[in-house]
Amino acid sequence: MTAASNGPIGIFGGTFNPVHFGHLRMALELRETLDFDEMRLLPCSLPPHKEEPGVSAQHRLEMLRLATEQCPGLAVDDRELRRAGPSYSYDTLAEIRAELGPARPLVFCMGLDSLVKLDSWYRWQELLQLTHIVAVSRPGWRLPAEGAVAELIVQAAGSAAQLAAEPAGRLLVLEQTLLPISSTRIRALVREGRSPRYLLPERVWQYISEQRLYKAP
Ligand code: ATP
Repeated sequence: MTAASNGPIGIFGGTFNPVHFGHLRMALELRETLDFDEMRLLPCSLPPHKEEPGVSAQHRLEMLRLATEQCPGLAVDDRELRRAGPSYSYDTLAEIRAELGPARPLVFCMGLDSLVKLDSWYRWQELLQLTHIVAVSRPGWRLPAEGAVAELIVQAAGSAAQLAAEPAGRLLVLEQTLLPISSTRIRALVREGRSPRYLLPERVWQYISEQRLYKAP
């Protein structure tokens, strides 16, 4: 599709501390499977659900830029770093919706680990008014069998075709081969003086080494 088209836009938010091949592979596969015009990786500045990242938002952003600059169709959206205060996905998605207009399909993508905790998010029940949600299964995580999120999964269940045809309101859980990589493990390897090579792009590893990130102070 061209830049002028009205195809779906994917948003993939995270701490990306640091970005790794699990994130990148998932972003690319979702873009291709769901035919997004663009998949935007969106780092958060102050994650409301996690501890302070310890590495500045600027470093996390730079690593994302290095990781994606040679991949057409993947983009980095730095809006949460330009905003003061906590990064609520609701506010971010409301801003993006205002920019895209009411008709453009918008798809907020996350791992299943994030979906199961959705009911702790700020204004979570209103998210589907702004966007669709796609959750990708992640090793070790199962769909909730009961509770508010389980109900939402049933009520809002939609197909890939509906995601492309409607602007918002559907929830889809996709099975994808996820790489068993986590940022937590990469940080631990670097802290212990071991190599995280082949878990993340070489340019990101070079940046981590040059900037001496994730080392004990
Ligand atoms: P941490 O280990 O610090 O918790 P993480 O590796 O889980 O980090 P985040 O930046 O917190 O990465 O994740 C952002 C999003 O990416 C979340 O929706 C998460 O489910 C998803 N994600 C994380 N790791 C993977 C992976 N290996 N494959 C696909 N998606 C992933």
